[in-house]
Amino acid sequence: MSTGVIFDIKEFAIYDGPGIRQTVFLKGCPLRCSWCHNPEGLDPSPEVLVNRKTGISRVYGEVLSAAELAGRILKNADYYSSCGGGVTFSGGEPLMQPAFLSETIPLLHDIHIAIETSGFSDPGTFRDIVHMADLVIMDLKMTDSSKHAKYTGQDNGCILANLEYLCRCSTPFIIRIPVIPGVNDDIENFTRTAELLKGAKALERVELLPFHKTAGAKYDLYGFKYEPMFDVDREAEYHTGIFTKYGIRSVIL
Ligand code: SF4
Repeated sequence: MSTGVIFDIKEFAIYDGPGIRQTVFLKGCPLRCSWCHNPEGLDPSPEVLVNRKTGISRVYGEVLSAAELAGRILKNADYYSSCGGGVTFSGGEPLMQPAFLSETIPLLHDIHIAIETSGFSDPGTFRDIVHMADLVIMDLKMTDSSKHAKYTGQDNGCILANLEYLCRCSTPFIIRIPVIPGVNDDIENFTRTAELLKGAKALERVELLPFHKTAGAKYDLYGFKYEPMFDVDREAEYHTGIFTKYGIRSVIL
């Protein structure tokens, strides 16, 4: 049986799919978004981080087998299912641990499964996981490849290919866009995104996530370097009217 590394399980999550949910954060991400709020989730291995304010050190990352993780989820699963919820696998990037994920999910019989992913993965892994999920929440940063490489460290070729596949599937999905001032809040990016999504029957809505400056404090606290490549004080623009024009429902979270 596979083992995996998680760095948190959040109880009572209300923004990661329908109902009240448990959100499991899998450790490791191939991207390095300039606005990332979870620097402790980027390295795939467990790591010791020292809180610079209190001097207290803590290990971020716990190695578990698929059965152990399923056991923890199942302890409270009845409660979450009774609230119309379930479990959401997030990260980091959960698709970085495909064997662990695909061995854990079948152990969670009858539980609503959501996967939150950047879509940065090989197509085979993406397809397998999409078909195991009841809901996919795909974080789509921007459509322009060179800008994507500049702000996340990777171009978006495989992400756009996986999105195209998702748009043809019957698995319900939500698109999440972190709206970053001066990076992806332009009309062109919103229009191209709407073009890519138009006609996708299983698309439930687009969720626009405001950028919060508080990320910087977490970096300082644990000694990570925080160098956002954009003006953190600028107000972002939300062109929700563009999605409306394309018949796509959008909400600002
Ligand atoms: S994809 Fe998410 S977890 Fe990974 S670097 Fe970007 S914001 Fe952070």
